[in-house]
Amino acid sequence: MKVRVDGDACTGHGRCYSLFPDVFDSDDEGHSVVNVDQVEGELLQQAQAAVSNCPELAIAVDED
Ligand code: SF4
Repeated sequence: MKVRVDGDACTGHGRCYSLFPDVFDSDDEGHSVVNVDQVEGELLQQAQAAVSNCPELAIAVDED
């Protein structure tokens, strides 16, 4: 499964990379970037939790 962040929707408050730093990181402006291209197992669970926790609905997990 692939994790995507919509850079236009992300407001950069950092919830995803604070909660799940193995999957997400911040760029120089505090916006989210994805650390890992493909996720499975524990990282998939974290990515799916991030989808639920992003107030801006900027994160998606889907089949590549
Ligand atoms: S939780 Fe959503 S809006 Fe916040 S930094 Fe992550 S992707 Fe951006």
